[in-house]
Amino acid sequence: MNPCRLSRARKLGGRVMRSTHFTVVLAIFGSAWILASCATKGSTAAAPPMPARITVLYDAFGKDATMTKDWGYAALVEINGKRILFDTGDDPAILAKNVKAKGVDLTRLDFVVLSHRHSDHIGGFSFLLSLNPQVRIYAPKENFGVFGSDLPSKFYRKDESLPPEMRYYGGAPPEIMKFGTAFPGASIQLIDKTTEVVPGVTLIALVSDAPGTKELKELSLAINTPDGIVLVVACSHPGVEAIVAEAVKINPHIHFIAGGFHLLVAQDPAIEKVAAALHDNYKVDYIAAGHCTGEPTFAALQKVFGDRYLYAGLGTTLDVGANPRAESDRNAANVLEEGDLLGYRTLLAKSDDLKDGGAEAARLAQIR
Ligand SMILES: [Zn+2]
Ligand SMILES: [Zn+2]
Repeated sequence: MNPCRLSRARKLGGRVMRSTHFTVVLAIFGSAWILASCATKGSTAAAPPMPARITVLYDAFGKDATMTKDWGYAALVEINGKRILFDTGDDPAILAKNVKAKGVDLTRLDFVVLSHRHSDHIGGFSFLLSLNPQVRIYAPKENFGVFGSDLPSKFYRKDESLPPEMRYYGGAPPEIMKFGTAFPGASIQLIDKTTEVVPGVTLIALVSDAPGTKELKELSLAINTPDGIVLVVACSHPGVEAIVAEAVKINPHIHFIAGGFHLLVAQDPAIEKVAAALHDNYKVDYIAAGHCTGEPTFAALQKVFGDRYLYAGLGTTLDVGANPRAESDRNAANVLEEGDLLGYRTLLAKSDDLKDGGAEAARLAQIR
């Protein structure tokens, strides 16, 4: 019997057995103990469980009519007691609308990750900063990048035979030369190499080698949980397999991957190779692809992962705990519905993600 019901039964029983003093005392003490234990249980149940979820705040496909679809990516990651905003999408007004639609409070964040310099990931930044100007931001360290940088002045050759007015800094440069950021006032911390920024939360820093994005540095978010690594990728310009290869160094069990895989114009054999690597080699439990993953890749991943492929359109909240399939939005019969598909293609055609070598690849793909 449920101890809380038992306690009510004992209270009634206590009234009947008033004749025996000992029984009454026993009943009172027993009831008090059980009531106390029920109260404790009640307060434990009342405490909100720590969420382990990812909410997609910016993408070009989705089913939530209160939100605006646009090319780009942003997600709120709530996990291990942390609230992390991963990227800010392409447009501050659209980010503002989508954040409001989901009731997300961007003033309460542990930190923000700006994955890479592309506008469809950092364009909404001014909206974030207007709400939360002090928030800690991690961004990739690049030479002369939009996030700011510095270099020792000894990097350039000097010529002491020149008059001072022909020399940089009149011939007396500062030891460290600082270069500005497109986000003045923001508290940006630059990440040069893979770094555990708080216990269990690692930013994987890799550099792209793909045509069009050579030398672009990108950060991916890897969170070590009791269920394995939850990995959030932005555009995967360095290659999603390369990112996963880094993540397994933290924990060989990859539980969940969300975000963009940048296989928009990839041909079927390349797509199948990636899907097989994630499923067969890395044995990724769950996949929730979005953004620049690409339509044929959505289909291929859904085929390979089956039930463990989770629909991740704009507005979806993905449970990333022990059983994501049961808790997440499961209306994933069609990866993209007809109208959605049209919108995704229109937004893609206008996006930066086709400019980095993709447009040329798309043209060549059509010729073949
Ligand atoms: Zn990108
Ligand atoms: Zn992108």
